Amino acid sequence: MKLSQRITHLTGGGSDGWDVFYRARRMVSDGYAVVELTIGEHDIRTDPSILEAMDLSARQGHTGYAMVPGTDLLRDTVAARLQARTGVPTTRNNVLITPGGQSALFAAHVAVCDPGDVGLYLDPYYATYPGTIRGVGAEARAIQTTAEDAFQPRAEQIDAVADGAVSLLINTPNNPTGVVYFRQTLKGIAKVCRKRDLWLISDEVYDTQVWEGTHISPRTLPEMTERTLVVGSMSKSHAMTGSRCGWVVGPEDVIAHLINLATHTTYGVPGFIQDAASFALNAGNVLEDQIAAPFRRRRALAVGILSAQNTVGLVPAQGAMYLMLDIRATGLSGEAFANALLDTHAIAVMPGESFGSAAAGHIRVAMTIDDERFGSALSTICEFATEIAGRHAAAS
Ligand code: PMP
Repeated sequence: MKLSQRITHLTGGGSDGWDVFYRARRMVSDGYAVVELTIGEHDIRTDPSILEAMDLSARQGHTGYAMVPGTDLLRDTVAARLQARTGVPTTRNNVLITPGGQSALFAAHVAVCDPGDVGLYLDPYYATYPGTIRGVGAEARAIQTTAEDAFQPRAEQIDAVADGAVSLLINTPNNPTGVVYFRQTLKGIAKVCRKRDLWLISDEVYDTQVWEGTHISPRTLPEMTERTLVVGSMSKSHAMTGSRCGWVVGPEDVIAHLINLATHTTYGVPGFIQDAASFALNAGNVLEDQIAAPFRRRRALAVGILSAQNTVGLVPAQGAMYLMLDIRATGLSGEAFANALLDTHAIAVMPGESFGSAAAGHIRVAMTIDDERFGSALSTICEFATEIAGRHAAAS
């Protein structure tokens, strides 16, 4: 039987550098001790106080259908949070609660892309981006950023490929690069969006993980509130990846349509999860600071280790739970280096190539194991790279 192109073309096909991740997983299940620095999953679980709020809510009976747009309490809480952080007036009518940020990314693209439209995204990118755009029937068009620009996108490069585009997807703080976009970068992006009449889909799921600089939401920039859809999530900020709770924030008319979409797709998010999320967000910065703290510490540790050598380059690690390391001095691709590292030292990292061609010759290291093992793994990575780079230099 024939299947739709939309589903069969969701992923691009071909090797995408994820082999090393699956190989590491197989090694673990075969009983090998592998140091996994691959995916963005915290090494702690959801805080017991959040689980208590979840349990209480469920026991009080919030286990039936919840309001499709989200509970009033959570929509109000998310609106107040965004307003407090950005100064942009925001009410519950600007908020749709979704089952996680991924569902919010998909909903945002359904809202603005028709089949055949072009949706833009920046390379390197979070793995699901092109598939999300293709999943709504649009053409996913990548814009390369460069290591030389520290992966800050340039407005003129976006403008150069914007013909036929209706949307631009950005992510700051960024996965996979760990870069936080400067105000100047965002101003340039906003200018192109206004000039080209683009919707800006702003993935801000790492907004509580900023180590250097400031997180600026482009929704705050002149004339951008009406053309920006912000994607947020409880996953990273509150170690609630499995709870599947996120949101889209945008203009009221867009949210009204998205509620319609939710009615016909997800039918909302469980009430007890939303009550737990409301509890967590209303705890102020306490819980999110606590969850960000280990990454802040490990990032400082990494800066120390990397500055003591000069083979491996560190892309400015300004936010999120990852380090992007430049291993081009070894002469190897990110994929070849990651495979050799797994074989030689049983350390699993993601090849930069898994996140697009712009991150070739890099590896992404998730800071998701305890400080001691993390520091030691990073030192091993540097020593291994130095060894290979030495041989490479001697041979060439
Ligand atoms: N955006 C980015 C950049 C991410 O890294 C992730 C998860 N790794 C998501 C969105 C989706 O997260 P979730 O669906 O768990 O909210």
